Parts: sequence; C-alpha cells; structure tokens
Amino acid sequence: MRCKICGAKLRKEGDICTSCYKEYCKEEALDNDTNEIFKLYRQYLPKYQLTRFFDFYMIMLLLIAASFVQKAIGLAIFFIFVTIVGVAVGLIVSKRIAVNTSCIFYEKKVVHKYKDRKKTLAYSDLKNVTYYQNFFQKLFKLGDIQFRPELGTYLTKGFEIKNVPNIEDNWAKIQEILGAEKED
Ligand SMILES: [Zn+2]
Repeated sequence: MRCKICGAKLRKEGDICTSCYKEYCKEEALDNDTNEIFKLYRQYLPKYQLTRFFDFYMIMLLLIAASFVQKAIGLAIFFIFVTIVGVAVGLIVSKRIAVNTSCIFYEKKVVHKYKDRKKTLAYSDLKNVTYYQNFFQKLFKLGDIQFRPELGTYLTKGFEIKNVPNIEDNWAKIQEILGAEKED
C-alpha cells in the first residue's frame, strides 16, 4: 500500500503516510485560524510618492529647458504637459496599489493580500522579518517590511509590504506578536 499523496510505502493500513497527515493537519489548522489580531496597511502618501519621480523631473526639466533654448515653445509646452500627466498617473497608480494591499496577522499565520491574491506564511515557517527605509521614507516615518520564509525562495513564498505608516510603532507591534508566538 502506498500513500495517496506522496506515494511513500505505508507500514500500516491507511490512505496517507504520517508526514502527509501532519502536513494536512498543519494546513487545516492554518485554514481554521481566522482570528484576525493585527493588520498592516500600505500608506499612500502623495508627499512621499512625489519624491520618487526625481529622475523623471530631471529628464523632463532638461527637455523643457532645451526646447526653450531652441525657441521651440510648442515642444516645451508638450513636455510640460507630459510631466504633469506622468506625475498624475504615477500618483493614481501608487494610490490604487496602496488601497488594495494589506498584511493580516492571525494567531498562527500572516497573510499578504493584494486584491484577490493572497500569500500565507505560518509563523513556524517564518525565517525572519526585517524592515528598512530609504532617506525619504525616514522623513515620513514609512518603512518596507519583508517576510522571509524558512524554506523556498523569497520570491515564491515570501512577501513584502511597502510604505507601512508609523513604522516604529508597527514594527514594535509585529515583534510583540512574533515574539509571543516563539514563547509557546
Ligand atoms: Zn505521504
């Protein structure tokens, strides 16, 4: 007799082996863990988002200046228009991403949500959590938090939530949740 999931030889009568059974129990426990204890949001902060278009501003400024030097006023107006539209689109896109992103902490797992897409990591499968900030994020108390899995690659199993507001308070809260988990 063989395990119906992994095909391993079974010593006793049954459908699945003990390791598959354990895996199944773990998944079921995770699915049943619906008690939300904490939620992280990605913040949309126009002031911060504007700092991210710096390269774009510089290029457009050069193009506008060059057009004026060439006395091509029509072209200069066109580049000014492109700059305004570019910044507006950038702000709209970053707002849409922010309102659709969250990280929910349950008793046993953390779930990253973007629209209908979900990624789940059990605390027991979590290798480490780190946060970092660039210069402007520091000014606005924002931070990016990365969740790295014990097994598998960061790209497939891990996730990140960017621009978390009040990063220091939120970071302390996460440490508290994950710390309490480790003491069990
Ligand atoms: Zn098996």
